[in-house]
Amino acid sequence: MYRLVIASAQKQEEFIILTPEQQHYLRRVVRLRDKECFVAMDGQGRAWVALFAGATAQILEPLEDSTELAIAVSLSIALPKGNGFEQIARCCTELGVTAFVPILSDRTLLQPSANKLDRWRKIVQEAAEQSERQIVPTIAEPVAFHKAIETTGEANRYICVARREAPHLLETLHNARPKNIVIATGPEGGWSAEEVEQAIAAGFQAVSLGRRILRAVTAPIAALSLAAAVAD
Ligand code: SAH
Repeated sequence: MYRLVIASAQKQEEFIILTPEQQHYLRRVVRLRDKECFVAMDGQGRAWVALFAGATAQILEPLEDSTELAIAVSLSIALPKGNGFEQIARCCTELGVTAFVPILSDRTLLQPSANKLDRWRKIVQEAAEQSERQIVPTIAEPVAFHKAIETTGEANRYICVARREAPHLLETLHNARPKNIVIATGPEGGWSAEEVEQAIAAGFQAVSLGRRILRAVTAPIAALSLAAAVAD
């Protein structure tokens, strides 16, 4: 069934008020006809089966299925070159990420524009619909590295480091069984030595993703696959 993300405010009692863009999309692109069903999701965990009726949709019943990972995974990603973040956003949303925090690190080359962020959020929304998620992962405003590692919370925090003796992320997650994790991955040039030191001083644990050197785009996707393997 086709999935559409709506804003919570669009749901009024038993009806959903569709925006003109959503009406157009459902009718012309998805080719729904009146009285055909689709799934409306608020992106924060709630979803309903709804009957398309032009400007509105009638809610039939809440959808109770769960496709979310058993743990919350926030990815802190030093922005890669070019369109690399788009690929990360799409693949990691499919794999079940909860939140993205784009990071400007010592060796980050990209300074994203405001409409980049809009574009990324759109990609993530489409990927969440496609993968039948209940939540749409959030993407924070890009932050400087030192700000990103400051953030405290209950999460277990891991920084992926290539070319260092560090325990494998899979083994680490197996042993710790955390409910809430942050995983940081570096840019093409890697983290600087100071960044790794600062992160460890701030409570991050250095982890490995294996003996091969992964590209900046591949590393977060691999990290998320490992998290999903432990807590699908
Ligand atoms: N140019 C660097 C590698 C950068 S790879 C070098 O030659 O050493 C980009 C990022 O991906 C790294 O900062 C790290 O966070 C992550 N990464 C890549 N391969 C990894 C591995 N085998 N283990 C852990 N992290 C890895």
